[in-house]
Amino acid sequence: MRRGGGIFSLIKLGVLIAKRVTGESGAGRRGERAVRWRLGWLPDEYLVINDLMIDRGNDHTSQIDHVVVSKYGVFVIETKNISGHIYGSEYAPKWKRYWKAWYYGVEHSNELEFDNPILQNEAHIKALSRIIGDRVTYIPIIAFSTNGELHVAAEHTCVIYSSQVRRLIRSYTEPIMSTEHVRKIYESLVANNITDENVRAQHSIRAQQNKNNYQQRQEEAISNGRCPSCGGKLVKRQGKYGVFYGCSNYPKCKYTKPIV
Ligand SMILES: [Zn+2]
Repeated sequence: MRRGGGIFSLIKLGVLIAKRVTGESGAGRRGERAVRWRLGWLPDEYLVINDLMIDRGNDHTSQIDHVVVSKYGVFVIETKNISGHIYGSEYAPKWKRYWKAWYYGVEHSNELEFDNPILQNEAHIKALSRIIGDRVTYIPIIAFSTNGELHVAAEHTCVIYSSQVRRLIRSYTEPIMSTEHVRKIYESLVANNITDENVRAQHSIRAQQNKNNYQQRQEEAISNGRCPSCGGKLVKRQGKYGVFYGCSNYPKCKYTKPIV
């Protein structure tokens, strides 16, 4: 028994470490919790699954923040806790975040790219269709925390603030599925939810590795004197308050980096 306990704590430790290394554990998780709380206030006819992890084939998994199954459709929600001004369009692979920050007493505008959450969510829906089919009406939602400012043009996905998520769901009022069908969908999703902590930890590690690779590519670009955002040349510029690196494609590209 003691040995078993030891192995168990080792596994737990592994999960703990995995949780620590994922960026998701901090800000991302906070955004997810806020939406989870809001969804908890939906009437009983809405069946909510938070943090659903399912197989998406080829030895890969999809982690879906929230799925709400109802007779009005299946809502698939991806939450983002990102501050600053957020720009993106439906099919661009990357979205951009701009924000101001102070470095050594000088204010700089910063920009950083992140994966288009609409495309992420589309991949999630594809994974869901493997289980419940593609005849189901899916309603994709991207919910940003209110500390960001959205400038996003999207036609087929609702990109909203998390504070609007419940109202948006309630705005769908036309029943398209029977209660029986809703129950069946919910049950097969719950049955396919991967709850094994080791598999979940593996997923987190892989997600972090992808993120690290991306950051590494960005850092490589910078050390090669290239703009990590557009590939332009980084040039020294004299600002009002000092020297900094800017992109040669300014004003089209607003990337800046302080000289430290
Ligand atoms: Zn650039």
